[in-house]
Amino acid sequence: MDISVVIPLFNEEESLPELAAWIEKVMVENNFTYEVIMIDDGSNDNSWDVIEKLSQRNPNIKGIKFRRNYGKSAALFSGFDAVQGDVVISMDADLQDSPDEIPGLYRMITEEKYDMVSGWKKKRYDPFIKKITSKFFNRTARAVSGIKLHDFNCGLKSYRKTVVKSIEVYGEMHRYIPILAKYAGFVRIGEMVVQHQARKYGKTKFGIERFINGFLDLLSVTFISKFSKRPMHFFGLIGTIIFSLGLIAAVAVGANKLVAISQHISAPKVTESPYFYIALIAMVIGTQLFLTGFIAELVSRSSSERNSYKIEKKTFE
Ligand code: UDP
Ligand code: MG
Repeated sequence: MDISVVIPLFNEEESLPELAAWIEKVMVENNFTYEVIMIDDGSNDNSWDVIEKLSQRNPNIKGIKFRRNYGKSAALFSGFDAVQGDVVISMDADLQDSPDEIPGLYRMITEEKYDMVSGWKKKRYDPFIKKITSKFFNRTARAVSGIKLHDFNCGLKSYRKTVVKSIEVYGEMHRYIPILAKYAGFVRIGEMVVQHQARKYGKTKFGIERFINGFLDLLSVTFISKFSKRPMHFFGLIGTIIFSLGLIAAVAVGANKLVAISQHISAPKVTESPYFYIALIAMVIGTQLFLTGFIAELVSRSSSERNSYKIEKKTFE
């Protein structure tokens, strides 16, 4: 099978028939063999009935229904788990992403040998506030991950099948799938400018908490991918630096006092020096960071995933 299209959706009953017909048209015109996997993320409208009807009419359309709303990442994860096609395309259900981009995204994987290609909504039709914050997120994500993408969270993306089978999208990490892919060892990550439309039916499913969550998730994805297998390298380093500063300050304060005593000049009390307090606090914080590092090491040692690596090839079975 050439292509699997994965569509996470939550209350999108009005869009689905149009979307399915459009995808079908593109697939037939390009002679692709395909499947469309629609994941109903616990909708409380008629989305599931619509999916069942669509799939009766066209068996290439398949549905998965969650009992409750788990979020877009969970829906993507279940879709990725089920796909069979060589190339996997993810897209939103609200008709903001255009199925006409599918052939281009497919070719960048098969012909230009990218592992993953992210859409770039260069001209996007979203509220002003979202465009601004999104610029900031993308810039930060580029800086911490070193991946040169303009639009990390574009719903429209294509992947080689092994990529989606090797990454685990959880929580709200769908915003940072390129970073997850990179840390799973897939470095050929490309970008393609895609058309974007204003939402035709219904309204956005994310509130303002998306901005805070997006920021916190960026911190965790960076930390986890860089340090989860060796937390002491993070905490230990900062702990050592801070503790050493404290130690230097303490020695300076003590030496000052001793020199004064030995020369019989009246020295001020050590507690009158600001360095005394700096020394005190820095040594306490440094020690705490160290202990945090040790505990984090113990936690990661007992994790069942501590020795799970993504193996690409072997010369034996
Ligand atoms: N979505 C989902 N579960 C959720 C929230 C959203 O499956 O809990 C789907 C939604 O139906 C749509 C896609 O994720 O297909 C993108 O959501 P939306 O269009 O609301 O986001 P925006 O375009 O505002 O970023
Ligand atoms: Mg949308």
